Amino acid sequence: MTMKKTIVWFREDFRVSDNPALFTAVANGEVLPVYINDINTPTDFLPGAASKVWLHHALNDLNNSLDGCLHVFSGNPLDILTKLISTYKITDVHWNRCYDKYQIARDIQIKKSLCNLGANVTSFNGHLLWEPWEILKSDKTQYKVFTPYYRSGCLKAPSPRIPLGKPQNIIYINSKNSLQVDNLDLLPKIRWDIKALEGWDVSENGAHKHLDEFLANKIDQYKIGRDFPGTQLTSRLSPYLHFGQISVHTVWHKVKDLSLVSDEANRFMSELGWREFSYYLLFHFPELYKTNWQSKFNNFPWRLNHKDLKAWQSGNTGIPIVDAGMRELWQTGFMHNRVRMIVASFLTKNLLIDWRRGASWFLDTLFDADIANNSGGWQWVAGCGADAQPYFRIFNPVTQGEKFDPEGIYIKKYVPELKNLPLKYIYAPWLASNEILSKAGVVLGNNYPLPIVDLANSRNLALSLYKAL
Ligand SMILES: Cc1cc2nc3c(=O)[nH]c(=O)nc-3n(C[C@H](O)[C@H](O)[C@H](O)COP(=O)(O)OP(=O)(O)OC[C@H]3O[C@@H](n4cnc5c(N)ncnc54)[C@H](O)[C@@H]3O)c2cc1C
Repeated sequence: MTMKKTIVWFREDFRVSDNPALFTAVANGEVLPVYINDINTPTDFLPGAASKVWLHHALNDLNNSLDGCLHVFSGNPLDILTKLISTYKITDVHWNRCYDKYQIARDIQIKKSLCNLGANVTSFNGHLLWEPWEILKSDKTQYKVFTPYYRSGCLKAPSPRIPLGKPQNIIYINSKNSLQVDNLDLLPKIRWDIKALEGWDVSENGAHKHLDEFLANKIDQYKIGRDFPGTQLTSRLSPYLHFGQISVHTVWHKVKDLSLVSDEANRFMSELGWREFSYYLLFHFPELYKTNWQSKFNNFPWRLNHKDLKAWQSGNTGIPIVDAGMRELWQTGFMHNRVRMIVASFLTKNLLIDWRRGASWFLDTLFDADIANNSGGWQWVAGCGADAQPYFRIFNPVTQGEKFDPEGIYIKKYVPELKNLPLKYIYAPWLASNEILSKAGVVLGNNYPLPIVDLANSRNLALSLYKAL
């Protein structure tokens, strides 16, 4: 067999293990691993500040795993790939597929152009358990509701492929033509990232350690534990999955191989199913990131009060569980799923601020910011998505706090101003008497805000507006 010379173009798959594009290229001959900072990316699809930090470390880690041979470029991908093909007599180009509308259109165009130059271009599935076009109803239309999508579609389709392992003995194409990762300027000028990254090991190895720890110590409490933000009983794999530092296939099969055929394991796997569903929706409805899935919401009378939005973003709404969540996000680049739902419900249903404002704040501040999961999550909470939460289900942030942070651990951690309040009042400090507040050192409106909105009135207003739709 003649040795091929293959460019492997890394995009959201910063790993060597179970990377089909890389694995196949190594099996066929010499390899030129490439990352391109695509300067044509439209604003809506650019990484936010937190994502850029993660990307910086993910690229450095990938470069180490590839023996320092990752070639980094910045510019127009087609121009860069074309030049590399002619300089190094490249025969093949490989990549793992991406699913947002910008990257799909770009990749189709690039594939066409490179094929015209005589290169063989092959794309692979490295990111999803099931391709969105493979899962259809018996009448060949797409699913719109999660449960039948997952149970009758995904679980009845052929099983996700077995992970490929690490390619051995990579032969690199010799080239010194590369930027350094530092040249991409991904780190912030004010170094907030150092503190935020404490506790994260942004590497492929870190992703595997995270998974192993979750499987050893947490999965058997997942079904119930996943709802309590004060305990860390979820996997926290989302940034690793987003950046492809671990493949979803690896996660899926490791859970299955442990024979954890339990409610806990099934629940965890169905959350991976939600990730699939978000990508499915984005693929079949490419405007998901900015357009209501249910068009009747196009007339919803959102309000934009900048002061309220700022209070929400900075964790100063006067509603403790909301503030705890928004501060967790700001300080750590992460937020627990239960709290994501609470803060999103508060923004859209109590403050009546358009979900797109919240989604864009999340995209800028989350390490796991992901256009599919984020748009899916926001549209679900706002009620305008596919299979969304019914409009009349408006989270009460006080009872949510009581139920899911019953000892106030989470609130006290992120809203330490309230830590001396009796538990009874920690979820709604405005209900405490002046005497109780002063004993706990709390002066509402001074060292902790009064609620920026009346929860009952705003709930009723939202209900009437939603009903009118
Ligand atoms: C308003 C809102 C915004 C969100 N934005 C994002 C986002 O930008 N990026 C992101 O990855 N997730 C997002 N989610 C989904 C979910 O909150 C996170 O995936 C989860 O909190 C990550 O923590 P974990 O890895 O510990 O999850 P686990 O509970 O351990 O779940 C394992 C994996 O399953 C996937 N998953 C879990 N829950 C969901 C879900 N509801 N929807 C889609 N996939 C899911 C994730 O990849 C996650 O890593 C959002 C949810 C909401 C309500």
